[in-house]
Amino acid sequence: MTSYKEILDKITFSFSTLHQYEQCPYAFYNRKIDGTELNEGNFYSDAGGYMHDIQAQIFSNQLNLDDALDYYIENYDNNVCYTAKQSTMDKKYEQGADYLAALDLSELDNYEILGVEKEVHFELQGYKFIGFIDLLLQNKINGEIILIDHKSSDHFLKKDGKPLKNQLSNFEAYSKQMYLYSYPIYQEYGKYPSCIVWNHFYEQTITNIPFVKENYDKTLNWAVDIIHKIYQDEEFAAHLDYMMCHVLCGYRNSCEYVKGEE
Ligand code: SF4
Repeated sequence: MTSYKEILDKITFSFSTLHQYEQCPYAFYNRKIDGTELNEGNFYSDAGGYMHDIQAQIFSNQLNLDDALDYYIENYDNNVCYTAKQSTMDKKYEQGADYLAALDLSELDNYEILGVEKEVHFELQGYKFIGFIDLLLQNKINGEIILIDHKSSDHFLKKDGKPLKNQLSNFEAYSKQMYLYSYPIYQEYGKYPSCIVWNHFYEQTITNIPFVKENYDKTLNWAVDIIHKIYQDEEFAAHLDYMMCHVLCGYRNSCEYVKGEE
């Protein structure tokens, strides 16, 4: 039991909280225990977040698909403020525009939309959780539920269904996110999703995996195990990783460990 117990007892956990702890316990400490606001965004979260927002507007009928591309272009600069290499920014901008121009929603006629950016609350062994499901659909004919997450990253699997080497950690992490969300889905609808779909919007591809109960059970155990680990932790050690510490982490410009590297 650590001296942080009282603070930890008040935390509402989420997949991203647990994932952040796995990636860098010190970042978790800054955010959840010290309460330091994330002080730096980045181009990738700006651009990906903007695409998420536009898709949420489309799927909740707040933005007509025919107007989506114009909206994207007109509001891009107000929503994507951080920069990256010019060629990366150009590529992502064009990929976003291409996706919206090609988006075809005709298949949605077969589905009822159960939720868009659906906020879910649940508890695992007394620990409170919150999550936001990008898109939840139910097949009008067979009643099957499909859990969809919009992803800026490339597709996760090879043609043989095995994870691509460079996407393995993403695939494993984001599978856990989707299995965690399956818990409140079961609580609300009395059934698990039949499949999990990642919509890799920039690439215009999808990764589609069947729901596997064994992986779901493992994920719930993983979540509770990580929380137990957090409660035991007294050091919250920094994990230095080039991409995280120089591009992605919200603490990269104030982190003493990164400054110590220079
Ligand atoms: S900058 Fe690096 S070491 Fe510092 S909190 Fe972020 S991920 Fe951890």
